[in-house]
Amino acid sequence: MTNPLTRLDDLLRRIADTVLDPVTGEGLAKSGRIAAAVLVDGVARITLEAPPAAVERFKSARDALEKAVTALPGVERALVVLTTHEGAAPSVRVRKGDSPPERGLAAPPPRVAQGLPGVKAILAVASAKGGVGKSTVAVNLACAFAARGLRTGLLDLDVYGPSIPTLLGLAARKPESGADKKLIPLEAFGLKTMSIGFLVDIDAPMIWRGAMASSAVRQMFDDVAWGPLDLLVLDMPPGTGDVQLTIAQRAPLSGAVIVSTPQEIALADVRRGIVMFEKTHVPVLGVIENMAWLDQGGGRRLHLFGEGGARRTAEAYRAPFLGELPIEMALRESADAGAPLVASAPQSPMTARFLAIAEALEARLAEGAKPPPMIRFV
Ligand code: ADP
Repeated sequence: MTNPLTRLDDLLRRIADTVLDPVTGEGLAKSGRIAAAVLVDGVARITLEAPPAAVERFKSARDALEKAVTALPGVERALVVLTTHEGAAPSVRVRKGDSPPERGLAAPPPRVAQGLPGVKAILAVASAKGGVGKSTVAVNLACAFAARGLRTGLLDLDVYGPSIPTLLGLAARKPESGADKKLIPLEAFGLKTMSIGFLVDIDAPMIWRGAMASSAVRQMFDDVAWGPLDLLVLDMPPGTGDVQLTIAQRAPLSGAVIVSTPQEIALADVRRGIVMFEKTHVPVLGVIENMAWLDQGGGRRLHLFGEGGARRTAEAYRAPFLGELPIEMALRESADAGAPLVASAPQSPMTARFLAIAEALEARLAEGAKPPPMIRFV
């Protein structure tokens, strides 16, 4: 089967500015109105975001964009969905071909988090700052859950640097779609996995990626055949902004784990992360301190980034402290080699640390096994 998922971005960037934004008079791409663009099996799906007061004025721009996209090579059908942040029902047009709009496109945007079919629990691995080892922890933690017998999935939502395909040695692979057009997650080391890197052009400028991210996030939940899974681990984008909110809005998170280094500057961010999850009613199941020390042999530890800071911050905010992970070359090397340490060195002391954290989290998830809170955004 050929890869059904191709990025429209490059083509779109060339033509979208030929259609003008009725409010600013600039091209639609330049004025940031294109929230998402994906080409799957010859069907181009584009989300055009209009300011609430100007939806009517955007309808002709929507039609013009559809016409331009339909003329692109490789596009059989174009669906341009006009949305606005205030939740007006999107209006959908179909060109070239008579089939009706695909499921979900004609419905108003979801305002209440819904469960994922066949997925029992969803755990977010988050950090308020990049470079603290969040993805490394997420991938090894997912392997630890799988080693403990849980049917585990790993969803890479880090729009600013999706790295799970590399960490699992899947960088050159692409997902395919099944009979129901849902994307089939790739499988590696006993995990089902998908990455936002397949939907968002990671070479695109940050601002463009940010605009596409919310829509791509929804697709990673709605258009992927995840179930059956005991646990879906999310590698969240770093930070506490709009994308994180979209995720909390779309997925009923069973809980969140925050990864930090012991540094004071990282700890200020941990506080922000805890507050963000509390605001969205997602239980913070604990804090993990990564890069806690470097072993120097003979029992000597070098605390490169300070000592015990994440534990103290967790305690101050009454969040459980889940454990420390030292700086270890083997962890970095296994990440670079695309074979997570927990899977490739199951007897190593580092693996034992991940297994212990997974066990503690499993217990906390079981405690909170009551239905996850429904989140309403008004
Ligand atoms: P983030 O997802 O927070 O941006 P990454 O997981 O990509 O961070 O980690 C950043 C770098 O640090 C990677 O090269 C990774 O291999 C390395 N790294 C993370 N944790 C450790 C650790 N405990 N010991 C050694 N290297 C680590």
